[in-house]
Amino acid sequence: MFIRTLTGDIAPEELGVCDSHEHLIRSGGEETRDPDFVMDSVEAAKKEVGYWLAAGGRAMVLMDSLGCGRNVPKILEVAEAYRGKANLILTTGFHKADFYDVPVHWMTTVREIDTCVDLLAAEVEEGLDIHSYNGPVVQRVEARAGIIKAGTSYGAIQAFEYKTLRAAALTQQRTGCPISVHTQLGTMAYETANLLREYGADLSHVMLCHVHKNPDKYYHKKIMETGVNICYDGPDRAKYFPDALYAENLKWLVDQGFQKQILLSMDAGRASYQRGYMEEKDRTVLGVSYLLERFVPLLREVGVPDDAINDMLVSNPARVLTFRQ
Ligand SMILES: [Zn+2]
Repeated sequence: MFIRTLTGDIAPEELGVCDSHEHLIRSGGEETRDPDFVMDSVEAAKKEVGYWLAAGGRAMVLMDSLGCGRNVPKILEVAEAYRGKANLILTTGFHKADFYDVPVHWMTTVREIDTCVDLLAAEVEEGLDIHSYNGPVVQRVEARAGIIKAGTSYGAIQAFEYKTLRAAALTQQRTGCPISVHTQLGTMAYETANLLREYGADLSHVMLCHVHKNPDKYYHKKIMETGVNICYDGPDRAKYFPDALYAENLKWLVDQGFQKQILLSMDAGRASYQRGYMEEKDRTVLGVSYLLERFVPLLREVGVPDDAINDMLVSNPARVLTFRQ
């Protein structure tokens, strides 16, 4: 029984309070869409981890995928700085199709799914490629991936995405590694859960992210009835919805009996969302620790019991992130 972090495998009970979908270093792939996606300062990232620890956090699941922001050398610098203090888990796998040059991507041109699975499984079992499979040269480090990512589009699952979901499920079957899926605004989450099951994934070790962006609690209940876990990412985003809506939804879902299938995160995937990065620009923002300093007290205020909060922050991530036997 283990969870795979960047600084080695740990027992599930060592995980601690976990932000289940996060970004610290992000370089390459997405910045053409918005320069705010560029997060390439090791010093700023280290500061953010420091604030998370100071607020009572311990673990983060870092979701920058292959060819889409993942920078192995830099994130390893951050992980090494907190060896023994923070549990940082890094992903292999893919974002949604729109972030790739799909016709020429190796996930398209390599026709045999087993060959794709070999590459993902090698990142889980042998070591991360420092080039994130961006080129013909593969150079592995000792650190390994602790989660596999796949992604789906807004209201659609594209051909590339069917393939990445299938590769994720097969890599899980082979290695036991858990899976995390980016759903665009929460759409297609129910279909994704059913697809992953069809492909042979164990849904108790799968989390579907960003479902809160379609804050429909009946929809969330329907998704979790498949047995999959959901992640409520990113309070402190008044431009989308007030935190009160998320908190009241979570209370309702806990009352409906789903407290064992919900995880929490900040998903602070923009430089402007993080204290560490914004301090470099003399701007004050609330950062990743908002989850513990502000959102958790709100959960208590709306009546979510402490054991449910503990499940969402500690027990559920520890169970989901544990490799299958
Ligand atoms: Zn994210």
